[in-house]
Amino acid sequence: MRRMRRVKILATLGPASNDPAMIARLHEAGADVFRINMSHTSKDDLAERVAAIRAVEQRAGRPIGILVDLQGPKLRIGTFAKDAEMLSAGERFVLDADPKPGTSKRVHLPHPEILAALEPGHAVIIDDGKIRLEVESVGKGKATTRVVVGGKISNRKGVSLPDTTIPVSAMTEKDRTDLEAAVNIGVDWIALSFVQRPEDIAEVRKVARGRALVMAKIEKPQAVARLDEIIEVSDALMVARGDLGVEMPLEKVPGIQKLITRSARRWGKPVVVATQMLESMITSPVPTRAEVSDVGTAVFEGADAIMLSAESAAGQYPVEAVATMNRIAVEIERDSNYRAIINAQRAEPEATGADAIASAARSIAETLDLKAIVAWTSSGATGLRIARERPQTPLLALTPNADAGRRLALVWGVHPIVTEDARDIDDMADRACDISRDAGYAEAGQRVIIVAGVPFGTPGATNMVRVAFVAQDGGALGHGNTSRRP
Ligand code: PGA
Ligand code: MN
Repeated sequence: MRRMRRVKILATLGPASNDPAMIARLHEAGADVFRINMSHTSKDDLAERVAAIRAVEQRAGRPIGILVDLQGPKLRIGTFAKDAEMLSAGERFVLDADPKPGTSKRVHLPHPEILAALEPGHAVIIDDGKIRLEVESVGKGKATTRVVVGGKISNRKGVSLPDTTIPVSAMTEKDRTDLEAAVNIGVDWIALSFVQRPEDIAEVRKVARGRALVMAKIEKPQAVARLDEIIEVSDALMVARGDLGVEMPLEKVPGIQKLITRSARRWGKPVVVATQMLESMITSPVPTRAEVSDVGTAVFEGADAIMLSAESAAGQYPVEAVATMNRIAVEIERDSNYRAIINAQRAEPEATGADAIASAARSIAETLDLKAIVAWTSSGATGLRIARERPQTPLLALTPNADAGRRLALVWGVHPIVTEDARDIDDMADRACDISRDAGYAEAGQRVIIVAGVPFGTPGATNMVRVAFVAQDGGALGHGNTSRRP
């Protein structure tokens, strides 16, 4: 099944879509990667979900990516004697280490390390921005705050600390066991929430040990401030606009999205734009104009993937949401301004053989109007570097490695195909031609460009390109095989 767009669609699973038949429908409608959110999934359910996705993959005969999203250190206040209280602007309110039920004057903050890290002037945001406090003074095991924005505060609401670098690991005990379970079961990507520093990603890597790639969710100002350092150690990024919009002024989010998508493209690391993309479709079969425009913006930015959250996980129209996203993406990529906008953000190749070849392959393919760039890639790295070029020519990545194929399912423009490694240079050209034709990219007599590393099976040895005609009777025309005519 050939997708008619380059940007990928990532759909979050949840009560509205966990059913295997629904997963199949979402894939058919356009979902390339599925996200399993560990904030709402038990380990047993994880195993069930992964098995269902793999069954859909088997039937579709195409790699599907699975992203497991770790909850991260989500902070919460304790409970109240009356379950809830009203806070008014200007009042004092204390956060403390006392587990006694809260009142209108105080509540337990069951994170001693946070109480120790708060400083006067720091903002404390509760319940996704509904309540805002400012720290006035701190004492042992307590912080006295002034209510800036008041409202109803209730049991165990979430706490965001945009000004405080939290001196704890980005992984909780739950995250560690979830991560272990996810890599053991063979998922492709791990996303880490509330990343603050490069070390947070390093910790996930240490457990994952190459069994899954690691995505940094950028949803804290601390991560934005150290963006390049975090990109350097991550395999991919998510513009996690939900929490980003709580921890930073909302009006800063569009600019930060641009910063992150551009930086990620420069590094050649996949970037996902996430949250509220088609929010109104949770309860409506059609999106708003503003939502369509928002999806369009992410596609014009050259994001690798656009994500659905509650729309596919818990909404009333999961299939319609995926189909709508698909339609928007296809149309935007056909827009007459699309190419110029994408090209304007193309990064120069780095001074490596792989990048020089990726850039040359794009240029040759576009100059000669070739029908496909076909990359033989064992780890997926060559596929990624060519995708970084954002070529106008369709890109096929042939890999003997199922994991690489699944990982590439997230990457802009890559049509991954898992196939045996090529035996030699002629086999490489023949099979590239056959596969391009079978997958509907090229017909007999048309040309493709093949990118590979010789000798085969040596990662990081991308060193050749070859232009080949698709022959009438299979394979590539030429190389002494005179029976093969275009
Ligand atoms: P979440 O992350 O859905 O796991 O909170 C995405 C976001 O915050 O935007
Ligand atoms: Mn989040």
